Amino acid sequence: MTRSSLKDRWPTDPVTDLPQRERLINMLDTGFEDPEMKEKTCLVIEVDAFPNLAEHYGRDAQDRIETQLGETLRSMLRVTDLICSLDRGKFGVAIDRAARADLEVVLQIASRLQSAITTPIELNETHLHLTASVGFALPQRAPEATGESLFQAAESALQSAQAAGPGSIRAFSNGMAPRAAATNHSEAELTEALETGQMLPWFQPQVCLRTGRLTGMEALVRWNHPKQGWIAPGAFLPALTQAGLLERLSEVMLFECLTAICAWDKQGLEVPTISINLSSAELSNPKLFEKIRWDLDRFDVSPERLTLEVLESVIAQGEDDVIVRNINALSRMGCNIDLDDFGTGHASIAHIRRFCLNRIKIDRSFITHIDTDPDQQNMVAAILTMAKQLEIRALAEGVETHGEYAKLGELGCTDVQGYAVAKPMPMDVTSLWIKNHKSTSDRSHPVLKHA
Ligand code: C2E
Ligand code: CA
Ligand code: CA
Repeated sequence: MTRSSLKDRWPTDPVTDLPQRERLINMLDTGFEDPEMKEKTCLVIEVDAFPNLAEHYGRDAQDRIETQLGETLRSMLRVTDLICSLDRGKFGVAIDRAARADLEVVLQIASRLQSAITTPIELNETHLHLTASVGFALPQRAPEATGESLFQAAESALQSAQAAGPGSIRAFSNGMAPRAAATNHSEAELTEALETGQMLPWFQPQVCLRTGRLTGMEALVRWNHPKQGWIAPGAFLPALTQAGLLERLSEVMLFECLTAICAWDKQGLEVPTISINLSSAELSNPKLFEKIRWDLDRFDVSPERLTLEVLESVIAQGEDDVIVRNINALSRMGCNIDLDDFGTGHASIAHIRRFCLNRIKIDRSFITHIDTDPDQQNMVAAILTMAKQLEIRALAEGVETHGEYAKLGELGCTDVQGYAVAKPMPMDVTSLWIKNHKSTSDRSHPVLKHA
């Protein structure tokens, strides 16, 4: 493809003439989707205090400096790499994933790009000294295998670099806070997304630690945004909540999940149960029980195929009779009730006894580094003892590594969910995953994703 036809397809930045964000996301996507392309690493570089340049030297000088920086950065990259303009003084880069010692290699690249920006620039017979912050994300660290997710991860890393002071470099790690939630979605846009099938569940497997068998799938909403691609819920749940659209979301999720269960059954794939997240607003709706019963009926799905996840913080409030009635009626009908984010919401044993719970989901914050941290081990051991005494199961959330998985087995935890098993995935790839997983878990155990 020639340079000019590329230009026609991808709009360029008016100042630097570099491609823009959409091109970067597209390139990062190809690393996950196209088997002929190498996986990509994403770097985001922002000149510190860039807006001050316009104040001191004028807009023209600022533009010239930005163009020059873009050219310098581009000249340092390979032809297969991509550099884009993201904002004034801010560049995004996609490079091929290195074969070995990924982190070190990318750190070196980040620091070379950063030093190029710190090289003094001549301006009005003086020398200008700039600094820049860099955030990057390796593809295997992306919360999801999408360009958008990888880019957001690099943005989170940049935020954390900037918080550490000018001239810092940070790599994305899973513990990092998600990028500040974008709440600029209008109610009309959100409603349209809900009504036109743009908001869909992705599915994350839950497995039995002892046998490795698939015990269920948790449905996690994703927004297939027409311009931005797949977006994780952290970026739009606050806006949906504000717009009072959470109930509509759970109707959509329930419908999609029951459709998914019927599709798996038809293909002969064993998915014992599917979990849906319910907010406290939905649980306070006196019609919730009837709505769920009606949907199960019309899809002809038996209630034990549905698990409802209720946050520990909701149960800890404990006073709302509608919530108690809803949960207990759903449980009596045969649905499973899981207590989500356990350990973060201060529910007492009395609260837990008041509800007919099947399982607690131990929050990820207790699971991270459990293989090496004795405090984590003690906490989880205590939680598991409590669960045993209450005769409820326990699932460990956010299990990321083989070490954590093995330690949880030693401690006697029964169920696990997390990146070590699989990341959330769209419906169309679940069949293949379930089949592959079944053939591996029938042959050997433990079953872990080959990271
Ligand atoms: P949650 O219910 O605690 O879901 C688990 C979150 O952890 C998910 O984030 C999942 O992608 C992520 N996760 C799973 N395994 C790992 C791991 O090994 N490491 C790390 N670092 N993260 C892991 P996600 O999908 O972004 O969802 C965030 C939260 O949004 C959920 O937390 C849930 O509270 C809420 N949510 C998601 N879907 C829905 C929905 O349909 N309705 C409602 N009301 N809330 C939802
Ligand atoms: Ca959940
Ligand atoms: Ca959780």
